Amino acid sequence: MLLISLQRIDTEFARTGIRKRELPNKISRLDETFRASAEEVEGEKQHLEELIIAHRAKEEGLKKGMDQLKKTKERLLEVKTNKEYQAMLKEIDVIVKKNSEIEDEIILKLEEIDSARSGLKVKELGFETFRSSYEEGKKELEREVGLMDSEISRLTREQAGLRERIHAEILKKYDRIKNHSNGRAVVPVWKGICEACHMNIPPQMYNELQRSDEIMQCPFCSRIIYWDDRGKNV
Ligand SMILES: [Zn+2]
Repeated sequence: MLLISLQRIDTEFARTGIRKRELPNKISRLDETFRASAEEVEGEKQHLEELIIAHRAKEEGLKKGMDQLKKTKERLLEVKTNKEYQAMLKEIDVIVKKNSEIEDEIILKLEEIDSARSGLKVKELGFETFRSSYEEGKKELEREVGLMDSEISRLTREQAGLRERIHAEILKKYDRIKNHSNGRAVVPVWKGICEACHMNIPPQMYNELQRSDEIMQCPFCSRIIYWDDRGKNV
């Protein structure tokens, strides 16, 4: 029965259409993950740069502090009174303390830079691995889009060829049922049971279905039915 072949093609058509419609979403989800991953690496890179800049500023601060210490010590030699001398010593003390604080901060910054650098290295390695799988995955999806396109044109041709061979009145009936039955107009019946609605076809009708070539419809779901002789294949 040509209608069985037509139904097969139309079902395949619907499936291919669904898969094709899903592909752009899959591609954009993949792109989105890739972008997010690239941004994450970029963020860590920026963080490292900020740490390096902060470290440089601290080093400059220390250099200034050392200069200040040197100058103050020089001034110490020119001091005349004991009071002035004591005040100067206090000043030197403050500078030394501040410089030592900056040194501690520099050590901390260097540690932060180290850990940021190794963290970034791990992230970058992971990202490179991800990049190649992303590129492969995307290529595969794009290849699939091409496949779907050629599949659709093949099905379009086969569908048109079949429809030409089917009587217009029958086609009309088929299309009408298909539109009302979730795209499934032609269904097999085996052991008296309609595969779509799972109802028992009346015995006399089932007998007739096995013998005649007439187009018959399931009395329960109205779909076009045919006897699927599974016995002959076993
Ligand atoms: Zn039925």
